[in-house]
Amino acid sequence: MHASYIRNLDLVIRKIERARLAYNPHHIVSLLAVSKYATIEQITLLHECGQRAFGENKVQDLKQKMHILESLPLQWHMIGTLQENKINTLIDLNPTLLHSLDSLKLAIALQKRLEAKGKVMRTLLQLNTSFESTKSGVSPTQAKEIYLEILAQCPNIKLEGVMSIGAHSTDYKAIEKSFVLAKDVFDSLQDVGAKTLSMGMSEDFEIAIACGANLVRIGSRLFGS
Ligand SMILES: *Cc1c(COP(=O)(O)O)cnc(C)c1O
Repeated sequence: MHASYIRNLDLVIRKIERARLAYNPHHIVSLLAVSKYATIEQITLLHECGQRAFGENKVQDLKQKMHILESLPLQWHMIGTLQENKINTLIDLNPTLLHSLDSLKLAIALQKRLEAKGKVMRTLLQLNTSFESTKSGVSPTQAKEIYLEILAQCPNIKLEGVMSIGAHSTDYKAIEKSFVLAKDVFDSLQDVGAKTLSMGMSEDFEIAIACGANLVRIGSRLFGS
């Protein structure tokens, strides 16, 4: 039981390492273990293997897992769509990073509540770089303008970069294209302090790293059997 998770983690780390070195030996890539399908026991085992950063896509699940695992020194990330009625709960959880700030409207609502509570939150602006209507996020052509607008209007939101979900496709070129678009937006934000480019999941993280991702979000490859 233990062995299979250690093996999964080792395999993922080896693949990240190979992709990272091929991209640039000085490039550093962080691994976020997406635990939305994982049990408490699985998360605990991965923690024992040295993994510290975990991500959830629902505020309720984040709250429950953070509470049960509060004695462990874990970093918790929120990666899923944030509904406005869950903003207060999320602020109170004090997550390490919100990856899914996906509109100016949400940013303004979040800013209002952060200000009222005297809190700040580290976030990434989510981009829709695959132009799939089922995906949230701002369009790459408007991204810089919206990013600057949030920086100007939302002092309690600490924007630190962008997040993207690769095109839902088996075509390498289509996936690569969506990641290249995200990297272009990320590069255009260097002068305003963007430092995190969150992209790449179980099926496409090596492509994402080849396109410059420095944070990958991996679930099923770690927790699948
Ligand atoms: C579920 C999820 C992941 C991880 O997906 P896997 O394919 O299981 O690695 C990454 N990012 C987001 C936003 C997710 O919802």
